[in-house]
Amino acid sequence: MISFFKSSLLVISLILIVLFSSPSHAGLSVEEEKELGQKFYILLQSNYDFVKDPVVTQYVRNIADRIKNVLPSHPFRIRINVIKNNSINAFAAPAGYVYLNTGLILKMQSESELAAVIAHEFAHVTERHLAQNVERSKYINIATLAGVLAGALVGAQTSGLGQALAVGSMAGGKAAALKYSRDQEQEADRAGLWYLVKANYDKTGMHHSLKRIKQESLLSGTNSPPAYMLTHPGLGKRMNYLESMESQLQAPDKENSQTNKSSLQRVQMLLKSKYSPLDIANSYSKINNKELSCLDTLGKAIVLQRRNQIEEAKKYFQKSLECSKKDFLYYREAGIFYFKAGEFGKSYKFLKDAVELNPRDKLALFYKAKVLAAKGKDNKAAKDFRSVLKVMPESADVHYSLGRLLGQNGNKFDGFLHFAYAYMFLNKKENTEYYFQKAEALAKTAKQQSKLKKFEEKYKLRKKYW
Ligand SMILES: [Zn+2]
Repeated sequence: MISFFKSSLLVISLILIVLFSSPSHAGLSVEEEKELGQKFYILLQSNYDFVKDPVVTQYVRNIADRIKNVLPSHPFRIRINVIKNNSINAFAAPAGYVYLNTGLILKMQSESELAAVIAHEFAHVTERHLAQNVERSKYINIATLAGVLAGALVGAQTSGLGQALAVGSMAGGKAAALKYSRDQEQEADRAGLWYLVKANYDKTGMHHSLKRIKQESLLSGTNSPPAYMLTHPGLGKRMNYLESMESQLQAPDKENSQTNKSSLQRVQMLLKSKYSPLDIANSYSKINNKELSCLDTLGKAIVLQRRNQIEEAKKYFQKSLECSKKDFLYYREAGIFYFKAGEFGKSYKFLKDAVELNPRDKLALFYKAKVLAAKGKDNKAAKDFRSVLKVMPESADVHYSLGRLLGQNGNKFDGFLHFAYAYMFLNKKENTEYYFQKAEALAKTAKQQSKLKKFEEKYKLRKKYW
């Protein structure tokens, strides 16, 4: 018992040394890194879709918050986003922006595994690895740096972003220097494991998550390993020492750690049925009807809807509702389905229930507002759209819906401006400028002028990357 205690103390003090020895990061000041982080965010947003579904984003942010609470002090605001991308990857970008691909979330089998990946990425942030690497590569220009970094962190080989950004051969060399080194990966593992345990997650999540990723490369049968393996070198070695570190660490085991398996399953159902390409989503049709859980039934209904098999979809939505008993997600999805099928009465009923059961879910409120608009209740709809926009300010759909409603009601200036926002968030330059100019031509009051100015500032940041 004593020796066990001693060895875990030793591990903990080793970890503390890692955590509190201040790494040298003279290459990039905090302010510079913040600027870089913001540019990088816009760059990714301009090339990828982010998942904005509150069920997904809130779940991931809850895990992130739990880990954030145990981090040592650091100069950044940590933010986490989910990228709609099927390659298995996660990465820490400058200034505390962390990104997870949908493909990675789908492969994790427990919340601890997902939390472990997040904790590892957070450790790159707290250790300020990126600032060290920028020094290593002696970089000069922040704007180009954002592009080169994308090549290094996103795994441009597998994401296609490399071509989109035209990362040249010189940039390629720089990108290699910016990649996290094997030493940094080990450091992030050690610190990440410590964060994971302090946040009261199952400690084995760390090596299990790596195992899933490695398995995937064996199963896929292709020559290209998951992007995560390219952006996080030394997977095999890392698994070995993580296992031995875990075994020495006194920490909650599976039974005592607090995780929520059903929440992960709900998120995975949505990611697979709704936010993955159809060939992946179609796996729901292969499940035998007798083996379908409530969640699977809902997943299958969503896939049938995507395949335009409306009558079949109806049957499965109905089945899933009977199965689930007052769960807002089932009402929300049924409501969205009936809205798209043009059955507004039914849709409204389901969406109203969904909003009552979970007022925080703004996607349900958004569709409820769309039904109200379709029924001609414009004032109520506009009020709801605006309240959705406060929580999802970067949603093209919401801007477009509100813009159309305002335009129809004679408020052409705001209508055009919301269209401009919608197209900006869709990364469509010509349409953005077209609607901006239309709004500009109508601007009369000082308030309208200031709205235009606010838009222009946002637009200026983005158009550089188009
Ligand atoms: Zn890493």
